[in-house]
Amino acid sequence: MTPEQLAFDREHLWHPYTSMTNPMPCLPVASTQGIFLTLDDGTQLIDGMSSWWSAIHGYGNSQLNAAAHRQIDKMSHVMFGGLTHEPAIELAKKLIAITPDSLDKVFLADSGSVAVEVAIKMALQYWQAKGKKQKHRLVSLRNGYHGDTFGAMAVCDPVNGMHEIFSDILPKHYFADSPATKFSQNWDPQDIQSLQAILSKEHQNIAALILEPIVQGAGGMRIYHREYLVKARELCNQYEVLLIADEIATGFGRTGKMFACEHAGISPDILCLGKALTGGYLTLAATLTSKNIADTISNGGAGCFMHGPTFMANPLACAVANASIDILLNGEWRQQVAAIEKQLKHELAPALALSNVQDVRVIGAIGVIELTQPVDSVKIQRQFVEQGVWVRPFGKLVYIMPAYIMDTASLSKLTDALITVIKNH
Ligand SMILES: *Cc1c(COP(=O)(O)O)cnc(C)c1O
Repeated sequence: MTPEQLAFDREHLWHPYTSMTNPMPCLPVASTQGIFLTLDDGTQLIDGMSSWWSAIHGYGNSQLNAAAHRQIDKMSHVMFGGLTHEPAIELAKKLIAITPDSLDKVFLADSGSVAVEVAIKMALQYWQAKGKKQKHRLVSLRNGYHGDTFGAMAVCDPVNGMHEIFSDILPKHYFADSPATKFSQNWDPQDIQSLQAILSKEHQNIAALILEPIVQGAGGMRIYHREYLVKARELCNQYEVLLIADEIATGFGRTGKMFACEHAGISPDILCLGKALTGGYLTLAATLTSKNIADTISNGGAGCFMHGPTFMANPLACAVANASIDILLNGEWRQQVAAIEKQLKHELAPALALSNVQDVRVIGAIGVIELTQPVDSVKIQRQFVEQGVWVRPFGKLVYIMPAYIMDTASLSKLTDALITVIKNH
């Protein structure tokens, strides 16, 4: 890339959550392969981020490449209104087969945030169809993150989310305290009190509880106890509130189970998937629900479900998603993720001894180091690149979620870099 191109980028291109007047520096990437990003100048970085949870099989996977080539020569896209195609049918079959039992109706959307919007609309239309219009509010958990569109923003953490800026426009929902009992601690029954209190008092107004099972991602990288989910499921049943599981980050093996709900053996009423759905190749998301909910919506006043994006069920994305799920179905990810978990636990533990480290937590192929102070983003990004790795912290959180294929030696380099950089930050 020429200096002129980079200057153009700075001047004209928005990047995620950036200022146009004072943008953070961006590194020019020329290509990706396996676990590596290759920069324009030839520098190779070990990727600790899997492009925000998505590239679970690494980059340039030959099976995914082949699937994309095969499909693009046949049909890249066609509208889904009044038409259908094999990639979408095959994908729906696979998703129904691998997700919890009750989920058997599939809506294919174009991004995670849209999948969340769709889930919320399903919950609202469901209660309308049942003649309970007043059940139109949601309850979510503090430290939650569900996306950047309006419906999704309204259920993100009210403090570290975007509520302040948009407070006049966002619908008002309920927020339960985030689960405090950690994954491996003894369950503290107090932990569910906040949610229980809200549901018992307000359930006539509440359509659904939305939460990220086991791992709260962008809202704090918190890993919580399975019993919280078990109890939340029971409360939803008791108070006639739907349970929406947002597995956009946790789905497809990341936490050591195919879906994080499996840690608690629960089944949600509505499930949102995204991020790793296409192995990080193309944007695609899915919202699944039960026959009962889908039928109720369809027999309601509106007569149909009110959503249908232009790029719904994009065949190219579906074809790659099918190939990605096929790789998962060979089961190798189970050993890979278990081995990564073990190695992360072992190699990140020494960070706890550092004076600027508050906490270290690991589940599946996710490693989190929480610092006592927010990082200097520009400085720490430079330090990581000097160590030959790509890690992008936010706030106090330095975290990695490597591709499942990462080898032991490369993962050691990555964890070494984390500890070295944090020590010297
Ligand atoms: C990333 C994420 C989303 C939003 O997905 P996008 O594809 O970025 O719109 C929603 N929920 C969770 C849990 C996520 O991690």
